[in-house]
Amino acid sequence: MNLSHWLIRTAAHTPTRPALFRGTTQVADYAGFEARARAIAGWLVTKDVRSGDRVAIFLTNTPEYLVALYGIWMAGAAVVPINAKLHGREVAFILENAQAKLVFTDAVLGHSLKEIPVTAQVVDLCEVETDRIFDTAPIARSADDLAWLFYTSGTTGQPKGVMITHGMLMAMALSYSVDVDHVSAEDTALYAAPLSHGAGLYNVMHVRAGARHVCPASAGFDAGEILELAAHFGRVHMFAAPTMVKRLTEGAKAARSRGEGLRTVVYGGGPMYVADIVEASEWFGPVFVQIYGQGECPMAVSSLSREDVMDRDHPDWQARLASVGRAQSVVEVQIGGPDGVALPAGQQGEIRVRGPVVMPAYWRNAQATAKALQDGWLMTGDIGSMDDAGYLTLTDRSKDVIITGGSNVYPREVEEVLLSHPKVQEVSVVGRAHAEWGEEVVAFVVGSASDAALDALCLENIARFKRPKTYIRLRELPKNNYGKVLKTELREML
Ligand code: AMP
Repeated sequence: MNLSHWLIRTAAHTPTRPALFRGTTQVADYAGFEARARAIAGWLVTKDVRSGDRVAIFLTNTPEYLVALYGIWMAGAAVVPINAKLHGREVAFILENAQAKLVFTDAVLGHSLKEIPVTAQVVDLCEVETDRIFDTAPIARSADDLAWLFYTSGTTGQPKGVMITHGMLMAMALSYSVDVDHVSAEDTALYAAPLSHGAGLYNVMHVRAGARHVCPASAGFDAGEILELAAHFGRVHMFAAPTMVKRLTEGAKAARSRGEGLRTVVYGGGPMYVADIVEASEWFGPVFVQIYGQGECPMAVSSLSREDVMDRDHPDWQARLASVGRAQSVVEVQIGGPDGVALPAGQQGEIRVRGPVVMPAYWRNAQATAKALQDGWLMTGDIGSMDDAGYLTLTDRSKDVIITGGSNVYPREVEEVLLSHPKVQEVSVVGRAHAEWGEEVVAFVVGSASDAALDALCLENIARFKRPKTYIRLRELPKNNYGKVLKTELREML
């Protein structure tokens, strides 16, 4: 089924329900949302866009983003969302790799593409003529048809296109209702993280339910603005990367706001340190739910429930809070050993997943596909273990594990310890080549704690060989556009 049916159905059932907002200003109700999407679809047809073609969106978070998305789907094409912070050359790489027919952008971002030759037609979304309304049913799409070509954030090498189908998004959305949160027409989806990533994928269940969609007027992440919007709309749902949760907590504490109107903050996309989520949940109350996913299995490997995030009574509550929760209902999750055999509870290995939310392939990249999909399983590249109760704990990306003197050091474990020091704001641990030991442990630290204090903390909490040999102070850690720490850059610095 073409996912745009969800918009059409909601518009038929509740045409006057408020749908799209820029800040607190309503831009369209559901009838208007559908009509605008139909106008985009109609225009695309006049530009010869056919089923299966790729149409890119290179925009910051705006309500028009969602309009373009549904217009593209109605016309049977697939969307290629491109992070608005990318450099023109990176955008050009994606456009060429996806063989996008055209790209919707605006005057400001379109400017960055002026100097770089691209084959795709660059179109200012504001200038699209809207007189040719697409007045039939959406072009039929099956579950296996491409809906969204997601370019991996590229913390290493060139980004790859993950093929996300209509069927995968539908399974993700239905699983969300069962495993993460119930969505109703009274809810508000607030897009504080880029729509080109997981936050954008989350629009679909909110469209299906007839909820409101709000893009902050700043089009970025500003803790004060988010708190104001939450108080204004109420029943706000948002996705936030762990760094955003930390900033939101700091912002709310400074403003003495308890986050009135925040209903659900889904966090994920990177490690959330226990101290940070304890602080956030004590301040805001039971609003947090964690998800673990990756582009190749979007938002739907596992989840840690609201109840688990708040639990302080269970004997394992700390370990559970450090975990990424339990497998979501639509997927099988296993820990694979080196010989491909599933490992028993408690043992560490590569996390692998299968089910209807897993990608069929990388876009036109058979070599990468063969590496990622093995015997029907998606090899996530994440190392972890599962306990007897089914809680999955991520140790690290397989490529980040440090091997020193033949022993494995999982950077996350060392980072957790260092972060528990009150004078450490951020930390990232990597390996540095060492003639004798193979690698040695190095910690990049943002904060004013002394080396001696950090050493003492490590000696109190972890094995001696895991203790960093060197601490390097930085004003901030290098991060990519989705807020993930770039360990490759840290290794290059070394
Ligand atoms: P991306 O495909 O860009 O969304 O990145 C996915 C990767 O982010 C995963 O393979 C994990 O390494 C990491 N990740 C996602 N969710 C979590 C989480 N809840 N906790 C820790 N790491 C996560």
